[in-house]
Amino acid sequence: MWSGLLPVGRHPDTGGYRRYAWTGADADCRAWFRDQAESRGLGYEVDRNGNQWAWLGDPAAGDAVVTGSHLDSVPDGGAFDGPLGVVSAFAALDELRARGAEPAGPLAVVNFGDEEGARFGLACVGSRLASGHLTAERARELRDADGITLPQAMERAGLDPDSLGPDPERLASIGAFVELHVEQGRALADDPRRGGAPVGVASAIWPHGRWRFDFRGEANHAGTTRIGDRRDPMLAYAAAVLASRETAARAGALATFGKVSVEPGGVNAIASLVRGWLDSRAADEETLAEVVAAVERAATDRGTSEGVSVQVTRESFTPVVEFEHGLRDRIAALAGGDAGPVPVLPTGAGHDAGVLSGSVPTAMLFVRNPTGISHSPAESAAEDDCLAGVIALADVLEGLACP
Ligand SMILES: [Zn+2]
Repeated sequence: MWSGLLPVGRHPDTGGYRRYAWTGADADCRAWFRDQAESRGLGYEVDRNGNQWAWLGDPAAGDAVVTGSHLDSVPDGGAFDGPLGVVSAFAALDELRARGAEPAGPLAVVNFGDEEGARFGLACVGSRLASGHLTAERARELRDADGITLPQAMERAGLDPDSLGPDPERLASIGAFVELHVEQGRALADDPRRGGAPVGVASAIWPHGRWRFDFRGEANHAGTTRIGDRRDPMLAYAAAVLASRETAARAGALATFGKVSVEPGGVNAIASLVRGWLDSRAADEETLAEVVAAVERAATDRGTSEGVSVQVTRESFTPVVEFEHGLRDRIAALAGGDAGPVPVLPTGAGHDAGVLSGSVPTAMLFVRNPTGISHSPAESAAEDDCLAGVIALADVLEGLACP
């Protein structure tokens, strides 16, 4: 399975993945998913929001145990973020069948569409739509960098965008959703017990969001405009970037300007508009709000002294997700087997599991990432750890579905 997916959407120069939602690379990943489902004799379907499902047993029976993740990527992402959860889900089903396990209810593997938000700027579109966190009206207004709307992109990919919207009946038929994911940090690699642990369970997802900062000044000639006559938005942007690092470090939070666009974008021109996107995350919502407010203050202060206006727009926000403690502890015990419960750790990364946790009992398994690097071609996981993840996931599915 892994080798079948590995070349899809990989850029020959960077080695990173560019599997953006509803593009050709995404279609290839989705065809792979369908193949995996059909070659196992699983019931294949695409829901009203473009998420793919592979069913073992009758979905209508209810109380389904569902596992899976996503197959799309960030720009030049790694091979594991998303696909490891989908590949492991199919492998865990194979393992259950090999064990002769007899599930009492339906099991399913899911591939949520457009998880990373790389193309339309909003993450977890498939699960947000299903759970009602994103309205169909707002989804229809999402546009990519070329001005193509989400419905247009979905239509070109052969889907019917008219059906977009909440899917409460489907979610009500799920008894538990477990997402396996490569860890996006070093908590498992650095776990003091046993010299590191191959698998862990999520306790919580930090609240996080994206804010767009628009700095507006005046375009002018870089060679003839005296310093005192400039209204250069780049300076206010730079102040915001520096403030984001300082305040986040002080607060034990995270803040990143990882995307910026500049108009007119000439080497010999002072910019008229700098648009920077802030991604910020913290252990609690109060700290997160303080960090963002401090960055905004620094931006506005510098903007005022430079004659530059600053406008901040919150583009997305996900509140803190505390995974349900009962399921979390049960899964930690099931995944650990005789060795005792696996480590339980929080994460700063958003996931479909976090979005769904308000509607469905949800838990997450993490597989050790030796360097902690993610959203990069350097992302990695050892084969033994991936296999340990599959066995842990199979143990969890068996424990949940085979009473
Ligand atoms: Zn992911």
